[in-house]
Amino acid sequence: MAIFLNIVAFVFGALIGSFLNVCIWRIPEEKSIVFPSSHCPKCGKSIRPFDNIPVLSWLILRGRCRDCGEPISPRYPLVEILTALLSLAMFWQYGPSLEYLAAFLFAAVLVVITFIDFDHQIIPDVISLPGIPVFFLLAVFVMGIGFVESILGILIGGGFLYLIAVGYELLTKREGMGGGDIKLLAMIGAFVGWKGVLFTIFVASLSGSLAGLALMLHSHEGMKLAVPFGPFLAVGALGYLFIGPEVMDWYIYWMKH
Ligand SMILES: [Zn+2]
Repeated sequence: MAIFLNIVAFVFGALIGSFLNVCIWRIPEEKSIVFPSSHCPKCGKSIRPFDNIPVLSWLILRGRCRDCGEPISPRYPLVEILTALLSLAMFWQYGPSLEYLAAFLFAAVLVVITFIDFDHQIIPDVISLPGIPVFFLLAVFVMGIGFVESILGILIGGGFLYLIAVGYELLTKREGMGGGDIKLLAMIGAFVGWKGVLFTIFVASLSGSLAGLALMLHSHEGMKLAVPFGPFLAVGALGYLFIGPEVMDWYIYWMKH
């Protein structure tokens, strides 16, 4: 039974991942995510239902459109596998429960934001802004995060990055941190609360700086390359759901002693 439920969580995740691919592709272009059904961007033929099975169809078709042979990016199956693994991980963490569904929704939204940020260096307001009240309600009524804790998460998440952005602009006269990151961190704060948002900022800043440093060492253009910050915030927030509370309790314990 346990194995069966794990398989269900994995397959459910892969199916949702297939839908997330559509969102990643269409939301930045402000197209409907429901109509029309998926079609090949080259020849325009609709994808047949049996060619739309997550991961498997891509493997069977060897990554090419059945009609015109146009290569299909391996990112499609990768997003599906990533989403399937996140679903499974959330299932292990929360078991068959509403908490699982809420946490998996949170992870799925972060997957979409991460890949859109990679592609376009934007975080669409149509995701992050409604995400703030939605994840506030889920945090308070499903996850059992306190009302005040979630509100503080929104304020710290939004406020912290806003202050950094203003400071950066004053110092360098250039626009640094995008407004999209600020709204994303407010959304993250709503779901993980103030402790979670501090954890997220810490992990994202550390991993983002290391990645920036690696890029700089790798190429002299590193300083000018825009490194999207959204994916690092997503990693920090998801990390918090798994190990964050223990780490923060440990940290607060040591601060007091
Ligand atoms: Zn085609």
